Amino acid sequence: MKSLEQTDSSVRQVSCFVNGKLWAPSPNLSEYTLNYPATGEVSATVIEGDATVVDAAVQAAKAAMKGPWGKTDAAQRADMLYKIAEGIEARFDEFLAAEIRDTGKPISMASKIDIPRGAANFKVFADIIRSASAETFQMKSADGHDVLNYALRLPKGVVGVICPWNLPLLLMTWKVAPALACGNAVVVKPSEQTPSTAVLLGEVMRDAGLPDGVYNVVNGFGAGSAGELITNHPDVDAITFTGETRTGEAIMRAAATGVRDVSFELGGKNPGLIFADCDLDKAVESAAKAVFVNCGQVCLQTERIYVERTIFDAFVEKLKLKAESLLPGDPLDRATSIGPLISQEHRKKVLSFYEKARAEGATEVTGGDIFDMPGAFAGGNWIKPTLWTGLPETSPVVTEEIFGPCAHITPFDSDDEALAMANNTRYGLASMVWTENLSRAHRVASQLETGICWVNSWFLRDLRTPFGGSKSSGIGREGGLHSLEFYSELRNVCIQL
Ligand code: NAD
Repeated sequence: MKSLEQTDSSVRQVSCFVNGKLWAPSPNLSEYTLNYPATGEVSATVIEGDATVVDAAVQAAKAAMKGPWGKTDAAQRADMLYKIAEGIEARFDEFLAAEIRDTGKPISMASKIDIPRGAANFKVFADIIRSASAETFQMKSADGHDVLNYALRLPKGVVGVICPWNLPLLLMTWKVAPALACGNAVVVKPSEQTPSTAVLLGEVMRDAGLPDGVYNVVNGFGAGSAGELITNHPDVDAITFTGETRTGEAIMRAAATGVRDVSFELGGKNPGLIFADCDLDKAVESAAKAVFVNCGQVCLQTERIYVERTIFDAFVEKLKLKAESLLPGDPLDRATSIGPLISQEHRKKVLSFYEKARAEGATEVTGGDIFDMPGAFAGGNWIKPTLWTGLPETSPVVTEEIFGPCAHITPFDSDDEALAMANNTRYGLASMVWTENLSRAHRVASQLETGICWVNSWFLRDLRTPFGGSKSSGIGREGGLHSLEFYSELRNVCIQL
């Protein structure tokens, strides 16, 4: 196996993975190119799946459900999930290289978070399905019969898995692992911008002995392409999606035909509340991660920070120093601490918010611009970490999801004021609270309208806990047993004894 430093920089071809095989290139199929976000050079050509490829993937998944896969029990599937996790670990460097090439994220992050979590998702759901149970009730009916009711946990069937680009392997396996644990077959549509690790995972699945057709990948775009073709396909029984809220709305309309179940993990505009009684250095350290990690391209990222007025200036000054200490550079260099944005198009969007902030008279604490990078990196999508103060709560910079390395910081004078500002949003994904006052921590956490609230921490995840968003940030919860609820269908069997 090649070492990461020898990672092939030639242009790769990424195909679809259907029924255990890579789809052969054909003149009937369109191709598009990917650019390495760190340099802008063309890094891959991708074969876009059309209606024929999507239908082949769905039919392969349907057929697989009727074959030996459909007869596996939970223990057999748990064993298979462990083999898949071990397969990822055995090809760790290949996954790492592919993920970095598609996203430009620094190796320090991808090697510690993205790829290990990709493998861990399979192990966690293997353990959960091995011990999952369903209800049993024994009772006497009104007319005196002894009756036994028990629930069978069955797969839903063919699950469409539609994924974003920010944490490609991590977020895709977060859905594929429980789907397979529950005995489903999947048709995955990775983001058009980051398809490589999903296809590589197909090889791992095949080598682990997963029957053909259980795991399929169709590459392409959303509307008018593979994404919409999958969500509209009548033989797709349920759809799980992570991405923007407005895409969720389009997918929900598609899922209405046939009344198919959906699970949605959507956008956010997450608040962080910093109280004067916090451990300031720890709060700043954590806030720096919450704002800038993955160049701000994390759904759980904090884009609005509310700081109690008495420590406002000190907090802003310390966070500014953290922002200015971030080091852009070669993603393969372990010293690099901030990578580029995913694309030129996304950088344009983030820069438009930088311009809006300026036009609205924000105080630019730091950043507001792009990094001027040397040599080959001059063509990458680099952008400076940015902090603002002074904007009204109605500014689009404070209300809209930017998905870049930036945050607006506002002072507050009371708990109620902080809570009112934090909750004044259509989103409800995540929040963060820093205080050493125990009762305040509990009180504020229970009043923040978000799916997860971190106290004196950020991004800690126990994969058995419920994960999802309130308001426009999602529908349903995944994680642990909550994932089993979505990926399985319970059938009640009622027996008169
Ligand atoms: P996106 O919604 O643009 O795209 C996500 C996926 O949906 C892509 O694969 C895309 O091709 C597909 N798609 C687009 N339109 C479609 C359609 N009409 N039908 C079917 N599929 C369609 O999102 P993105 O830009 O890839 O990701 C960034 C967004 O994802 C941000 O809003 C971020 O907050 C959100 N996100 C949320 C979570 C979470 O857990 N809540 C996690 C990561 C990212």
